[in-house]
Amino acid sequence: MKQLQHCSYSGSVKRLLFIGAHPDDETFFAAGTFAKYAEAGAQIGVICATRGERGKTGDLCPTEELPQVRERELIKAMAALGVTDVQFLPYQDKCLADAPLEEMRRVLVESIRRRKPQVVITFDTHGANQHADHLAISRFALDAVAAASDGRWYPELGSAHVIERLLWTPPTILFKLPEDADVPNLPGSDFVIDTTQWTEQKTRAFQAHRTQFPGLKKLFFDNPNGQRTFGIEVFRLAWGKRPASVPADDLFAE
Ligand SMILES: [Zn+2]
Repeated sequence: MKQLQHCSYSGSVKRLLFIGAHPDDETFFAAGTFAKYAEAGAQIGVICATRGERGKTGDLCPTEELPQVRERELIKAMAALGVTDVQFLPYQDKCLADAPLEEMRRVLVESIRRRKPQVVITFDTHGANQHADHLAISRFALDAVAAASDGRWYPELGSAHVIERLLWTPPTILFKLPEDADVPNLPGSDFVIDTTQWTEQKTRAFQAHRTQFPGLKKLFFDNPNGQRTFGIEVFRLAWGKRPASVPADDLFAE
């Protein structure tokens, strides 16, 4: 007798979506995690709501070219990690909170329903470092995750998609923790990913953000705390099923 194959949702291809504000947000918090899951065959999408065009050029290009330069840098950084799905949104750096809510909700709902991620990562509600754009994208992402799950919103954009987990950046940026912090046992360390195996790819992703590299180098490569925490990435469960034990070492853990 032929047995019907049971297609469990969690057994299907793993899909991860990062929703950030600026080029480098994704590398800052999740580069090693992307490399790990990309290597394992997961589908990873990165949404970047601005082009970081009000940042520094690092004397590498004229100011007016910075949006295109930052766009290329992000694409190159993701290529170093095996990620090819990068979507830029047309919003203004340092003004993300003023982006039109309806338009943002629609574009993010479309992105979520098209990619059908089980796991979405975005900034926590304090924007990791209280940056106004990070706070704004956290709000927009949460709004869109909820709207994507309700078919009454934008039925023309595809059927409702309910994600399994919404993850946030950790409560404290890792290199700001005291040297003796026991990271896996801190509240909010719900998913702790050991990325040491992907240090090379992660380093190349940072380097690809050339216009931002002088600042990133200080934080991650010159700072002993940055070096010490370079091999781990931490995510906090915002919404969805808690893993059986914390910290879990897999974003998709049962
Ligand atoms: Zn940022």
